[in-house]
Amino acid sequence: MNRQQLRVPGELGDVRPRSTARPSVANTESSRAIGRDPEIRELDEAELIRRIQVLRRERGAVILAHNYQVPVIQDIADFVGDSLQLSQQAAATRAPVIVFCGVHFMAETAAILCPERMVLIPDPEAGCSLAATVTADEVREWRRLNPNGVVVSYVNTSAAVKAESDYCCTSSNALRVIEMVPPDREVLFLPDMFLGLYVERMTGRRLRLWMGTCHVHAAIRMEDIEAAWAGQPGADLLLHPECGCVSNCMAAAAAGELPADRTLVLSTGGMVAHGRTCHAPADLVGTETGLLHRLRLENPGKTFIPVRDDAVCEYMKTITLAKLYRALRDSVYEVTVAPDVAARARRAIDRMLAAV
Ligand code: SF4
Repeated sequence: MNRQQLRVPGELGDVRPRSTARPSVANTESSRAIGRDPEIRELDEAELIRRIQVLRRERGAVILAHNYQVPVIQDIADFVGDSLQLSQQAAATRAPVIVFCGVHFMAETAAILCPERMVLIPDPEAGCSLAATVTADEVREWRRLNPNGVVVSYVNTSAAVKAESDYCCTSSNALRVIEMVPPDREVLFLPDMFLGLYVERMTGRRLRLWMGTCHVHAAIRMEDIEAAWAGQPGADLLLHPECGCVSNCMAAAAAGELPADRTLVLSTGGMVAHGRTCHAPADLVGTETGLLHRLRLENPGKTFIPVRDDAVCEYMKTITLAKLYRALRDSVYEVTVAPDVAARARRAIDRMLAAV
């Protein structure tokens, strides 16, 4: 474990993200299976939708979709939400089959919460560049070196990492979770360094930060914010805390260089709630562009503008209607978590669900 991976509390000047190779989703096994399937290859979008509707009824399946999914997947889902909301839905459902249209760690969380149900993901290679920055072995090593330390894991982690964690959190409840940790304990916050810096700033608590980033959000920089606001000076700015510019924006807002009352750091669920209730003529949206579909659908009289229109997560976008249909038809791909790992991860996830 070296300085590339961890930042010592109080050191603010030299944070450097840890670079991790990103697996390609250009040609996944699920995509190849669709190409080999003569039945699915012939179906147009309307027929795929019709067949999905039939199969979901026959199987009693519930379809959960993340806010970053492509519009046609959001439109057919029973529920669309952020990570915390989807976990809550998974925990509450009585459906025998859950089809999770999101990335793999989210389906794992659903499988941990619902061991008696079948959890399917249409493409298991839908990964996450942020979750890939940390392994369970690395967390165990930190624990060995810091036996009294507390590990708080963002939900964007594998089940194996959650199993080594004391608490889990999402971007909507990270502040509340940190406040639950006794003040005399050292905290390792992982894996997103920008969310960690934001949590430090808001709670005043010094944290050990893992130097992971999401490649989509880390690319949203201060110059993007300035350019977007120049075109819409009356807009509110909605920033996801994983964005690479969050610390600079908060510092600029505190210094009066950005309008503090219109610079808002929010989870995607928080952005949806803001869109419904706020009366600004426009919102500048600093997150993955999939959220724009829902914001525009729910608020037809309002303008929503992406801070970067290339803020697109290829892992989320690998889920398609054809793959969703195949998941329901063939029961692929089932997501399971080994019982001992699930039991340990569940403790951290339950603490996350309790901190709402
Ligand atoms: S947007 Fe970033 S954090 Fe979210 S799933 Fe994609 S890579 Fe992971």
